[in-house]
Amino acid sequence: MIAAQLLAYFFTELKDDQLKKIDKYLYSMRLSDETLVDIMSRFKREMHNGLSRDFNPTATVKMLPTFVRSIPDGSEKGDFIALDLGGSYFRILRVKVSHEKKQTVQMETEIYDTPEDIMHGTGTRLFDHVAECLGDFMEKQQIKDKKLPVGFTFSFPCRQSKLDEGILITWTKRFKASGVEGADVVKLLNKAIKKRGVNLLSTGTNACYMEELRHIDLVEGDEGRMCINTEWGAFGDDGSLEDIRTEFDKEIDRGSLNPGKQLFEKMVSGQYMGELVRLILVKMAKEGLLFEGRITPELLTKGKFETKHVSAIEKSKEGLNKAKEILTRLGVEPSHEDCIAVQHVCTIVSFRSANLVASTLGAILNQLRDNKGVTRLRTTVGVDGSLYKMHPQYARRLQKTTRRLVPDSDVRFLLSESGSGKGAAMVTAVAYRLSEQHRLIDETLAEFKLTHEQLLQIKKRMRSEIEAGLRKKTHENAKVKMLPTFVRSTPDGTENGDFLALDLGGTNFRVLLVKIRSGKRRTVEMHNKIYAIPIEVMQGTGEELFDHIVSCISDFLDYMGIKGARLPLGFTFSFPCKQTSLDAGILLNWTKGFKATDCEGEDVVYLLREGIRRREEFDLDVVAVVNDTVGTMMTCAYEEPNCEIGLIVGTGSNACYMEEMRNVEMVEGDQGRMCVNMEWGAFGDNGCLDDIRTIYDKAVDDYSLNAGKQRYEKMISGMYLGEIVRNILIDFTKRGFLFRGQISESLKTRGIFETKFLSQIESDRLALLQVRTILQQLGLNCTCDDSIIVKMVCGAVSRRGAQVCGAGMAAVVDKIRENRGLDHLDITVGVDGTLYKLHPHFSRIMHQTVKDLAPKCNVTFLLSEDGSGKGAALITAVGCRLRDAEQN
Ligand code: ADP
Ligand code: MG
Repeated sequence: MIAAQLLAYFFTELKDDQLKKIDKYLYSMRLSDETLVDIMSRFKREMHNGLSRDFNPTATVKMLPTFVRSIPDGSEKGDFIALDLGGSYFRILRVKVSHEKKQTVQMETEIYDTPEDIMHGTGTRLFDHVAECLGDFMEKQQIKDKKLPVGFTFSFPCRQSKLDEGILITWTKRFKASGVEGADVVKLLNKAIKKRGVNLLSTGTNACYMEELRHIDLVEGDEGRMCINTEWGAFGDDGSLEDIRTEFDKEIDRGSLNPGKQLFEKMVSGQYMGELVRLILVKMAKEGLLFEGRITPELLTKGKFETKHVSAIEKSKEGLNKAKEILTRLGVEPSHEDCIAVQHVCTIVSFRSANLVASTLGAILNQLRDNKGVTRLRTTVGVDGSLYKMHPQYARRLQKTTRRLVPDSDVRFLLSESGSGKGAAMVTAVAYRLSEQHRLIDETLAEFKLTHEQLLQIKKRMRSEIEAGLRKKTHENAKVKMLPTFVRSTPDGTENGDFLALDLGGTNFRVLLVKIRSGKRRTVEMHNKIYAIPIEVMQGTGEELFDHIVSCISDFLDYMGIKGARLPLGFTFSFPCKQTSLDAGILLNWTKGFKATDCEGEDVVYLLREGIRRREEFDLDVVAVVNDTVGTMMTCAYEEPNCEIGLIVGTGSNACYMEEMRNVEMVEGDQGRMCVNMEWGAFGDNGCLDDIRTIYDKAVDDYSLNAGKQRYEKMISGMYLGEIVRNILIDFTKRGFLFRGQISESLKTRGIFETKFLSQIESDRLALLQVRTILQQLGLNCTCDDSIIVKMVCGAVSRRGAQVCGAGMAAVVDKIRENRGLDHLDITVGVDGTLYKLHPHFSRIMHQTVKDLAPKCNVTFLLSEDGSGKGAALITAVGCRLRDAEQN
């Protein structure tokens, strides 16, 4: 056993029986590896309790979140002040972190006295003292007028709910100022400083290790890591270390300012080590084992034997001489044997401390290893504290025991060279960098966070745009076109027959055969085939586009074996069309990815019929041109008669609803209702949404095929959300918030950030590591911190999309309610679109917004099953029915 070897090495001089006598006497202080491993697992349990929501309130080891989410990334720079209160001295530091080629840290320190009466006086007085010292320091440094960020290393257990807060749980060590426990020390400090007229920004705290956020129940969110201040000094306060606590430990505790608390700390820290040795010496002397039984007043005085004496006595060469000196000063007239014995006592006490620290540290290292999922942990432990630094053997013993207890690790111990000051400054620097970044990020993303007021404004504006579109007088110049569809009623269940449907305008072009059967058991059977439309066809000539469509139909008829039959056809054409009848639709303008020439201003049914005629192969009866929103509404209405609104949130966004004929001024007649295709994507094209559009929306718009058009759609739909995110990411990278400021080639690629990635990244089930993987697959080499920011960006963009969409829908439902003179309206919206269906939050946020903005309506949302196919067939069926009725 290494411990025994070490003892042997140090005490060759000591006769065997004497050594054994003391060993036996202090038997309970000598911990076997077995015990240490056991303590390690006890501490592991304590850590888990501290981290868990259920157990934290009663946990002794508090595992306090510090809200420091990152370790220094090397880009920190600036001028910081750090206050270090709670160590042996009260220190104030000024740290300049500069950044030329290599990061360099320059420090200036001043140590201030904290008299006993202040430590034990009122809290106000203590913080006034701190502020006074700070004032003095700033004067000396000639930075009185500067507003430097201040980090406050406050080495007592504090509960934090944000970075610049620290509620003192309990004083430990030598402090006992009144009125501070339970109060926010950062506030107290700020108050004291304000009194003195100094301005500062407060951040920072002491640090222990970086824990995965998913293990910290007390902090929202699952992503990334946060620095956890374990406050392991309280280990054992629940009695879990009773079996190893000795009578001396109990005596120390009884005589302390905080009996029953910080029991682990009292066994290991330098604060108590000298005293622990003194108590042992007193007892041994009393029993005649030392100093021939001489006991002096000095030896009996608390604090007379200090921890620095332990260090001096354990020095290998001059240790015994030091022992003689120190003991002589205590008046006990030590013999050479006494000196050897006292040296041995010191060794046992300090060795126990190192061993205990090794076991708790071991538990943390195990946790880190498990977190990282590696079999072998490589890590660096930064250590500070004068015991570790000044004691001749402590560091080596701690390292050796740690490595023995956690064998599957490569642990490097690094002395924090300038004490906790530099650590504090680095924490401050990191915190400051992050908080400054977060402030700027928040500021940018705040533009995407719309207030209730703003959303009400959007609803109101949508309402007036709706009116403008419906009115004959204003229709011409209206942007929200409110196009009549000549669909006058929803299905009644009597629809029957075989129909063809075309679906053009979504991601895919499809041809469908839909068999609708009426009667007791209504059924709809569908067969479809998807065809690609090459981009050169989408953006070629109109003739090429329609020839392509007709050739796809031809293929489908062959495939289904129905080329002979002249089937009625519904043409789902998801672009703004001005209809003059059910089977005539003049394309107003292309949207989304389409741009074929010679189509705008033409009747698309005519273009289709011409295509069929040119091919001279088959004939079809084109009955209806159908907008996909209308198809969606019709499909849902077939199941749920209450459904009188259709909504699409897919590649684009649009809505339709049943409007009173008397309001549809563009069509003759006042009786009944007609479905109006709102073409709401164009909302805002007259500038009425410009106050909420961001520079990113403008950038996306500028590079789109239809710049200046479909501004509302571009804030909502699948074709654009990813692009908005990409533009924000580029900007954030340029500003140094992301990807270490490096804009990769892939990030520059338009369209690379597809909207489906928003869905993936925003999924609650996804750990941060997976987000990182997604981003890495996109060629974005990112850290965990980057992933957090990217996720925030995605969330802001999709949330806004859902909210503005909801605001528009609120305007629609309230209009329908008013149309019908109702105080309360129950209505169903049929919805289609992959973004709506697959995004983890979009639908929920949209529903909530509608609820908030239209409280007098009870709106149900029903997912549509293939509105563009089934809906088109239903419209065609209704059309056929009405046409037959007219002819008969
Ligand atoms: P369309 O509206 O063209 O008929 P969809 O309703 O399928 O077709 O919508 C396609 C759009 O949905 C695409 O723009 C794409 O960006 C988006 N999208 C695809 N997958 C997802 C997903 N998992 N989450 C969110 N959006 C998606
Ligand atoms: Mg679609």
